[in-house]
Amino acid sequence: MQTYEVIIVGAGSMGMAAGYYLAKRGASALLIDAFDPPHTMGSHHGDTRIIRHAYGEGKQYVPFALRAQELWAELEQAANVKLFSQTGVLSAGAHDCAFLQEVRESAERYSLPLEVLTAQEVRERWPGIELPDHFYACLEPASGVLYSEHAIRAYRELATASGASLLTNTKVTSLQTDGADVIVHTDSGSYRGKKLLVSAGAWNAPLLQELGLSVPLVPTRKTVAWFGADESLYSADRFPAFVFHLGDSMFYGFPSIDGAGVKIGRHDGGQAIDPDTLERTFGCYLSDEGDVRAFLETYMPQAAGALRQGRVCIYTMTPDEHFVIDRHPDNPHIVFAAGFSGHGFKFASAVGEAASQLLIDGESKLDLSMFSLSRFS
Ligand SMILES: Cc1cc2nc3c(=O)[nH]c(=O)nc-3n(C[C@H](O)[C@H](O)[C@H](O)COP(=O)(O)OP(=O)(O)OC[C@H]3O[C@@H](n4cnc5c(N)ncnc54)[C@H](O)[C@@H]3O)c2cc1C
Repeated sequence: MQTYEVIIVGAGSMGMAAGYYLAKRGASALLIDAFDPPHTMGSHHGDTRIIRHAYGEGKQYVPFALRAQELWAELEQAANVKLFSQTGVLSAGAHDCAFLQEVRESAERYSLPLEVLTAQEVRERWPGIELPDHFYACLEPASGVLYSEHAIRAYRELATASGASLLTNTKVTSLQTDGADVIVHTDSGSYRGKKLLVSAGAWNAPLLQELGLSVPLVPTRKTVAWFGADESLYSADRFPAFVFHLGDSMFYGFPSIDGAGVKIGRHDGGQAIDPDTLERTFGCYLSDEGDVRAFLETYMPQAAGALRQGRVCIYTMTPDEHFVIDRHPDNPHIVFAAGFSGHGFKFASAVGEAASQLLIDGESKLDLSMFSLSRFS
């Protein structure tokens, strides 16, 4: 049986990034993925992801977001491919919106550029937005859009060029510890690793269970859709990515990039699913199109054109919507990165780097304590 210094189970957003940082440091790494990343079966497809720095989900994320942004820029350089568009990100909500309050406090604490705009200022600056008077918005001009599939492809090419081994279309069927080592069984052979990273996205819970870890993860069906839009209002050279908090719901979206139309998704809700039997047809629920079209008709009416395309994707939710990045309590050479709860992609570069540090150095430079598994016990 071949032995590797590190085996990575799941080479998607987090795993592929970790593979790159491990290979760059000279570790012998084997990455195993059930599909051929980037692919459309997990959580990273649909072209784009928003990156924000002033963080409404908690200002503790800001150093993580800033490190991630630095690493995305380094990856762009190393791979010589465009991975980020600085469109700015506009967050909007009512005057008492806790998320927006946290965005403002994050910006203040970390001296991040942020413009706070009244509803009227928003309507004047972006005539494609109908914002009610009891709303306001925060524009983060330094934030924007990441090209998620290009990013995974870039990590893949650089990781393998640096000596990492990658097995695609190979499903990990079970994991077992053997003394200090880990044995990874797949549908086409078994491999021995001195260390292990489990980063299998929506499939993490059963794999972690095999290692005696109970991690509260709920894979959830989510959809995104692209709509024909008035390019003179919504094209990426004049319109930001956006996040709208409507009290009982939250929508996010992207300007029309290269004429693709406005892409939009609903962040809250979705159906708890098994990723192996997930209904992957967009439109099989009326809400797939209905929810986002209703949002556009109200807030961005000239972007509510014909449905151009729709995609089904997976969020893996934790109870508090914060991530779980930790070491196995009894086997510190096993690290896991899970539960990215619909807002993880922007951090994938920093998660990959931090996971590589946990595996090689035993600790990461960024403080990961808020992501510990023990918070659920
Ligand atoms: C519609 C949608 C919109 C989103 N928007 C944003 C956004 O704007 N900003 C943001 O920051 N985040 C966003 N996210 C969240 C972000 O994309 C995810 O948090 C992130 O991609 C999760 O990464 P992951 O590595 O955990 O999963 P994945 O990227 O899915 O990787 C997991 C990998 O593990 C592999 N795998 C699973 N089981 C096995 C097995 N048994 N054997 C081998 N391999 C296995 C899979 O094939 C897959 O490649 C969004 C997600 C969705 C679905």
